[in-house]
Amino acid sequence: MNSSPQWIREQIAVLQQSHLFRTRQQLTPKPDGWCELEGRLLKNFASNDYLGLATDPRLADAAQRAVAEFGVGSAASPLVSGRTCWHARLEDRIARFEGAEACLLFPSGYAANVGILPALVQAGDHVYSDQWNHASLIDGCRLSGADVHVYRHSDMQHLATLLDQASHTGRRLIVTDSLFSVDGDAAPLEDICRLSDDFDTMLVVDEAHATGVYGAHGRGLAESLHLESRIMLRIATLSKAIGAQGGFAVGDQTVIDWLWNRARSQVFSTALPPAVCAAACTAFDIIETEPFRKERLWDFSRQFVEQLFAAGLNLGVSAPSALGPIVPVLLDDPQSALRVGRLLQEDGFLVGTIRPPSVPPGTSRLRIALSCAHAEADVQRLADSVVEHVRRAETTERRDGP
Ligand SMILES: *Cc1c(COP(=O)(O)O)cnc(C)c1O
Repeated sequence: MNSSPQWIREQIAVLQQSHLFRTRQQLTPKPDGWCELEGRLLKNFASNDYLGLATDPRLADAAQRAVAEFGVGSAASPLVSGRTCWHARLEDRIARFEGAEACLLFPSGYAANVGILPALVQAGDHVYSDQWNHASLIDGCRLSGADVHVYRHSDMQHLATLLDQASHTGRRLIVTDSLFSVDGDAAPLEDICRLSDDFDTMLVVDEAHATGVYGAHGRGLAESLHLESRIMLRIATLSKAIGAQGGFAVGDQTVIDWLWNRARSQVFSTALPPAVCAAACTAFDIIETEPFRKERLWDFSRQFVEQLFAAGLNLGVSAPSALGPIVPVLLDDPQSALRVGRLLQEDGFLVGTIRPPSVPPGTSRLRIALSCAHAEADVQRLADSVVEHVRRAETTERRDGP
């Protein structure tokens, strides 16, 4: 058979009919939070570039200098011959930034998670995973072969009940996002640390959306709650607030040595390009010396969330203080999410529209990610536009409804 089978055509037709088929588009990043999409200049509120570093010329400079010296590809797995001085420098830089004993790089955050979890638990072991954990953690759990116990989102009672099962012998591990990537809410990390202590389990926390954003030094949610020393392994990405590419994990030297030997996604995958590591090193310097970026982001976030909340939009939380720079606006059906997303584009804003299967049916939403790269007036204009279009969509829904 050399052409695509009928079943794929049928499945695509089903996706199209239910407004769930995804098309591809091309985007050109521009400075100051702008982007160009299909020939139109838009303010980009759909990226994870929270600190505006992805287009920072200082990162580009660092990368260019490293390219001139090392070329582009690193040509081998880090274990074989792909680990350059830039990889070593970045691992040291991250360990210092995170106040951790040791750090290990991965090709991406996704690769970190699918490599790390199977290195820690196997068939016969038990992993306890939040219902809304990122797909890469879910995949890592599945790949490990351990029994996976999914607890209801942030439900500590449920987690405690699962942990209390006497039949759960073998190694045990709790894994959670710190800041949930779609809902933008924070995990109850303090309670999770307590349960991990009480039941003597390993604890892995994924700070992908919190690194650079939360905590006095920008290390993440664990820092802001003073819990870093109680978490065995913290995972994060260089691809969001850091503005580069790649994943990393920090912990004590022993667990990092173990992952170096056993995490298949870094053993069997080519090391990050040295230039990316050089750019990331510069990003950590900037984060430390320019705290105003984080402060500005939080000012935007407080102002934006409060305005949407006061206007009665459904942000999925009971108080504005529960959200940070990721702001979801729930809209029930995928059509409304797409329609509002299009109207916002006409007003000059790009926001994420998230539909099933990324979120459960009936919870399609806008996902607005703020960045310190924007101007305050843009954030204000976006808030006004969102309130206007979402209200209109809700009225239309009621009129068209059953
Ligand atoms: C984005 C994300 C990842 C994946 O990181 P990449 O570097 O983009 O592969 C992993 N975990 C969480 C929680 C994320 O939000």
